[in-house]
Amino acid sequence: MTAIITRIAPSPTGYLHFGLARTALFSYLFTRKAGGEFILRIEDTDAVRNKPEYEADIFEELAWLGLNADHRFRQSEHRARHTECLRILIEKNLAYESEEPAKDDPSKTVRVVRLKNPGETVAFTDLIRGEISFDTTELGDFVIARSIDDPLYHLAVVVDDEDENVTHIIRGEDHISNTPRHILLQRALGFRTPAYAHIPLILMSDRSKMSKRKHESSVKHYREQGILPEALINYLALLGWNPGGEREFYTLPELVDIFDLSRVQKGGAVFDEVKLFSVNQHWMRALSDNDFLTNLNWPTPGVGQFSQAEDEKLRKTVPLLKERARTFSEARDMLSGELSCIFSVPDIERDRLLAKELPDHPGMTKTALESLSEALKSLPEGVSPETAKETLMPLADAEEAKGKGGRGAVLWPLRYALSGQERSPDPFTLVSILGPAEALSRVQKAIAILEG
Ligand code: GLU
Repeated sequence: MTAIITRIAPSPTGYLHFGLARTALFSYLFTRKAGGEFILRIEDTDAVRNKPEYEADIFEELAWLGLNADHRFRQSEHRARHTECLRILIEKNLAYESEEPAKDDPSKTVRVVRLKNPGETVAFTDLIRGEISFDTTELGDFVIARSIDDPLYHLAVVVDDEDENVTHIIRGEDHISNTPRHILLQRALGFRTPAYAHIPLILMSDRSKMSKRKHESSVKHYREQGILPEALINYLALLGWNPGGEREFYTLPELVDIFDLSRVQKGGAVFDEVKLFSVNQHWMRALSDNDFLTNLNWPTPGVGQFSQAEDEKLRKTVPLLKERARTFSEARDMLSGELSCIFSVPDIERDRLLAKELPDHPGMTKTALESLSEALKSLPEGVSPETAKETLMPLADAEEAKGKGGRGAVLWPLRYALSGQERSPDPFTLVSILGPAEALSRVQKAIAILEG
């Protein structure tokens, strides 16, 4: 059995997009499972649209995803060989040069190379889609090079796949119509025809094709939003492939073990960002607190500097973030929004503090805050939310038993004094994160406002 060799061939004309990342993943899984070799070939023949930053991004994102190639090539390194193959085809009378008006400027002429198309019916067995046959007459003598030393994709890809001994080509379904051209070229050049597997496209929720150029469909965009590579791998693997069963979460090595091209679906796979976020939340929750904080990267280095006490608070906030945030960017937004009260003393207004005060029981809010103060003094530093609740909740229960303002008469001023907000984590969690000493100082500040 010949060793399996696959390749991905991204063009550096945009940031690595979702579709290509998934093609890379499927090729990687297929190859690693078979113990084969995985090649990354940068298809940099389109000098006008190529950019070094896109190539750098392709390397960076693939490394971030853990999809490491065994060999890397640039198509442009093989120019001389492409020209050699063009010459062979011309010498054998299988291709010819033709003077034609340039497409972009018809006043100029160019000397393109066209393949002499024998007009055969080309058939191949796609590993996903089965038998495919194509009458190539309609393709005519198609262009294979802009000039003898400027090959087009069709020629370059066929020559490189041959020279790199590629055995399996896994690529997007949008390339199906290119395959007959490639097979004609392989026949003309006396090359092998590798096995083909065309995987379904990724569609948007309205079933339109996912754009290759939009930033929102790039891997970079999701990395910047704080999606974990584990999550993106897990999500992409299940986008158009189904291992069977109900299991939802897989690591890359687990996927390598179970991947099977025959379970790739034929229909388009619909991208669902909400699902991606929920898969991400799973992997965020699976991180140790240290790894979570490393990924969180907050406050942004250089922008803010944290004291040891603040670091301690941030660490205590991790369970809350794990519970609520679906991405690290959401977690950062929470820290600078609804959770900002953890790091800075909130401004509080007398009127809102008194929101639960009953007109016929003046002073009840202040009394509640005073008993809360006493109770807070009894709590040790490092108190858990559960213990804080066990100590403080009875004060609210007692208020309810009295049948006046209910629990809210105690819990509201506590929550507001601690957070300055209507929506905040529950006050016991806040006491635990802030520590009883700081909670006490905030409650006393509220009492002072009522006294002032
Ligand atoms: N360069 C092509 C692309 O980025 C891939 C071509 C191929 O896989 O044959 O879609």
